[in-house]
Amino acid sequence: MSVQQRLEQVRARIAAAAAAAGRPAPRLLAVSKRQPVDALREAYAAGQRDFGENYVQELCDKARQLADLPELRLHLIGHLQRNKVKAVLGAASAVHTLDSLRLVEELARRAQVERLEAGRPPLPVLVEVNVGGEAAKSGCTPGELPTLLDALSGARALELRGLMTVPPYTEEPEGARPYFERLAALREALGGAARLPELSMGMSHDLEVAIAAGATLVRVGTAIFGARA
Ligand SMILES: *Cc1c(COP(=O)(O)O)cnc(C)c1O
Repeated sequence: MSVQQRLEQVRARIAAAAAAAGRPAPRLLAVSKRQPVDALREAYAAGQRDFGENYVQELCDKARQLADLPELRLHLIGHLQRNKVKAVLGAASAVHTLDSLRLVEELARRAQVERLEAGRPPLPVLVEVNVGGEAAKSGCTPGELPTLLDALSGARALELRGLMTVPPYTEEPEGARPYFERLAALREALGGAARLPELSMGMSHDLEVAIAAGATLVRVGTAIFGARA
């Protein structure tokens, strides 16, 4: 099956899940990590504009190789190290993985120079929350979240867009439901959709469950592009 056909299947899954949940359909972030640029071109030709990348270097390389696609937006959805902040500010349309105060402060400081003082708009950002409390995963704890959100509210060069999570993996998609509901509840407790418009949750195998729990953005890789290299 082509990327275009799989993309259409994913769009149909999203539409069906949204209709079943009685919710507006979330936006689709096509996760293109470790996929060749031709696969992104194929998805772009089929109307996809937002892509998720996990590695700063790969995101920057793809931004260069795809500079001829005027509406392409590359979002960083993998962990951001503080020494990569400058590079990401040049190439990414958004960063979805802020998870510490030090990182927020570093990004805010650099974005002031690279974005505001350069006449560019603030950088859209999401805070990643480790709702499953897994030691090996990035993301802040729910307890740290209020402090991070307050820091972001004061950062003029960053535009706070919402919350993101990657739940613990379970064979059954339903296993992710309590984690998605936890993220939705945190958003309600900390200002709701007015302060945090985006809830980024749901991947290839559990996007229906995430949409039922209120996802506004789903991040889908293998169901669109097939297995990764
Ligand atoms: C790889 C990745 C995805 C996509 O996962 P698939 O199972 O391929 O759909 C989504 N979000 C994050 C943060 C990822 O790293």
